[in-house]
Amino acid sequence: MDESVKQRHQTRMQRKKAVVDAAIGRATEQRGIVIVITGNGKGKTTSAFGTLFRALGHGQRVGLVQFIKGTRSTGEVAALEPFGESVDYHAMATGFTWETQNWEADQRAAEMAWVHAERMLSDASRSLVVLDELTYMLKYGYLNTERVLEAIAARPELQSVIVTGRAAKPELLEIADTISELADVRHAFKAGVQAQAGIDF
Ligand code: ATP
Ligand code: MG
Repeated sequence: MDESVKQRHQTRMQRKKAVVDAAIGRATEQRGIVIVITGNGKGKTTSAFGTLFRALGHGQRVGLVQFIKGTRSTGEVAALEPFGESVDYHAMATGFTWETQNWEADQRAAEMAWVHAERMLSDASRSLVVLDELTYMLKYGYLNTERVLEAIAARPELQSVIVTGRAAKPELLEIADTISELADVRHAFKAGVQAQAGIDF
């Protein structure tokens, strides 16, 4: 490669490093954060679980509430088993609304699941609490948005929370420190590929 090209690359990387180092220097605050992972694309729940396993890998204790539990068991929940007490886990008792088709039953199930979320959100020994598919509970009015946001706001200082699900309400986005929106650029399901173990559940 041309010497001048290499030189230009090195100069550019030096400048980049200065910018990155300055940004790292500015980030001095230590506190738990709220992460919202939303959008219509694939990767919300798997991203939340990736972070959960990351925390477990550091020997941290975590909490997980799944607000929609499908009829089949998932690989990600099965993989939590060896972590025992390090994981406080609860799944909402019913399937989801297009199966139960009963607002009141869903609402009651959501309320019951929320009690577990509240326990985790007040447990300072849990460094991360994942509230998987919580957005739908707010969207369908199964849970009171204000109450949910208050519990998240009142959590222990060093605890982080991840909320996943499509159509996150503006009020939820308002309190988030980090928001990622996955775009549905393409999905194999639409081309007729069946959901598969290890990829989709
Ligand atoms: P994943 O659990 O794979 O991270 P997700 O949490 O982003 O997906 P959900 O809306 O919770 O997506 O849907 C869960 C199921 O639907 C998964 O089996 C996933 O593969 C599938 N899925 C996700 N996005 C799409 C999409 N855009 N079109 C069709 N199916 C999808
Ligand atoms: Mg999901």
